[in-house]
Amino acid sequence: MDSRNPRGPLRAGEDIILVDPKGEEHLLTLTPGKPIGTHRGNILHDDIIGKPDGSRVWTARGAEYRVFRPTFNQYIMNLKRHAQIIYPKDIGPILLWADVFPGATVIEAGIGWGALTIKLLEAVGPTGHITSYEIREDFAESGKKTVSRFLGECSNLEVKLRDIYQGIEEKDVDRIVLDLPEPWRVVAHAGGALVPGGIILSYLPSTVQVKQMVDSVNEHGSFSEPEVFEVIHRPWHVKGLSVRPVQWMFSHSAFIITCRKIT
Ligand code: SAH
Repeated sequence: MDSRNPRGPLRAGEDIILVDPKGEEHLLTLTPGKPIGTHRGNILHDDIIGKPDGSRVWTARGAEYRVFRPTFNQYIMNLKRHAQIIYPKDIGPILLWADVFPGATVIEAGIGWGALTIKLLEAVGPTGHITSYEIREDFAESGKKTVSRFLGECSNLEVKLRDIYQGIEEKDVDRIVLDLPEPWRVVAHAGGALVPGGIILSYLPSTVQVKQMVDSVNEHGSFSEPEVFEVIHRPWHVKGLSVRPVQWMFSHSAFIITCRKIT
């Protein structure tokens, strides 16, 4: 986890976000000698390489674009994705409610597109460890690539091509974070893998799944009463005298359910 360098001039080989005059974002990798074709004229990658983060650049026809090192949100939201990700609005609360701390040992399933994995790695830091169970080989590979493209190689990430419903091999795990359809099939395994007081968090889109998870945790008997919530993020439009919530919002992603292991 060493190549995310948020300082200094933009370098060849780095990812950037190009923001067009309408505010739309484009993720691309700076490549010497390459042009960026826009319908407002071309910009050369060489015109961007060596500029500071946050620079203004102009097309040959004079249209102004802005160029930034991608934040995590910009990186994730602009990737061409093939799997459903956990949205940034939920990732922050997940890290807090799962209480992911520096040095923690965390199991997640599955890696999917790797959005959550990036933030788990940052939260546990170099002394922590993430094991990601994933049943699909293509997602195991693309998830690892998405992570290393943003963070560089992470020696403390292990991706296991395994079905977590079959069991968890690790012991003394601090936190388990589940983004898969039937987390109740992991409850008994989690009971054996977690340290006392350890946390299991699951992320579920439908109320029927939430009910099944809560019932399973309660029936198991080794967990505290689950806490269930959702996160509503309401952006506002602030332009001139128009100061109001946006008209259309992303209203639902998933519920977050947490509980702690008791002895
Ligand atoms: N949290 C990820 C998205 C995960 S999508 C992100 O933020 O990008 C759900 C993933 O779980 C898929 O990749 C799917 O293949 C994987 N999965 C589903 N059931 C599983 C199981 N039983 N064991 C391991 N992985 C599983």
